[in-house]
Amino acid sequence: KRPLDNRIRERKEATIMTKVKIGLSSCITWLPNGTERAYLNQDYIKSVEKAGGVPLILPITDNVDIIKALAESIDGLLLTGGEDINPLLFGEEPDPKLGEICEARDRFELLLFGEVYRLKKPIFGICRGLQIMTVALGGTLWQEISRKPGDLIKHSQEADRKISTHHINILPNSQLEPILGLKARVNSYHHQAAKSVGTTGTVTATASDRIIEAIDWSTPHHYCQAVQWHPEAMIDTHPEMLNLFKDFIQHCQK
Ligand code: MN
Repeated sequence: KRPLDNRIRERKEATIMTKVKIGLSSCITWLPNGTERAYLNQDYIKSVEKAGGVPLILPITDNVDIIKALAESIDGLLLTGGEDINPLLFGEEPDPKLGEICEARDRFELLLFGEVYRLKKPIFGICRGLQIMTVALGGTLWQEISRKPGDLIKHSQEADRKISTHHINILPNSQLEPILGLKARVNSYHHQAAKSVGTTGTVTATASDRIIEAIDWSTPHHYCQAVQWHPEAMIDTHPEMLNLFKDFIQHCQK
């Protein structure tokens, strides 16, 4: 018979084991004194935690062995918001309205995405996350959405991040419909958007100006979807947004 201490320890480990580890991509900034700093908005961490996952911030690196080890160590990947995507990655020269890009982050996230995708672990993208997934899966982006012909609504809101400012129409029978219904309200902080989604993608939500707001690349055995808004900033004002994280984390349970 195993000693009591061992049994208690094993039970504790089992409880921890049922929690899934969610890797969160991070950002780099350069301080005025030249220090290079890794960081991530706390809202992502709180959302994963509240939805029952264990958040892990993944550092940007160009070491392929480390990227492989990171992909192995997580149960699911959440690609977070941030800088614009380098248009050279989808075959375009830079538009004068292109914002700040981060070469190291683009390279890291593309390699990490490729590894996690190959391992068929669930992947959820938010804002820039949607854009990097689009590029990784053969789609293209509007570098600046005002270049899209036709009238646009405001996608760079000045209101607080908790506040929803535009509607989205959700594709019936999509993965999003049971969570958000056919019409939802979202916040909006993007001047780029997906233009095409690649051969395996389905547009699952659009704004009234037809800007793509959500894409699903999932297969029956692999969860892979992304949204253009920031649900992590809305979980207090729009509790249904937490269900996006819960759904993702449920798919990460082995
Ligand atoms: Mn929007």
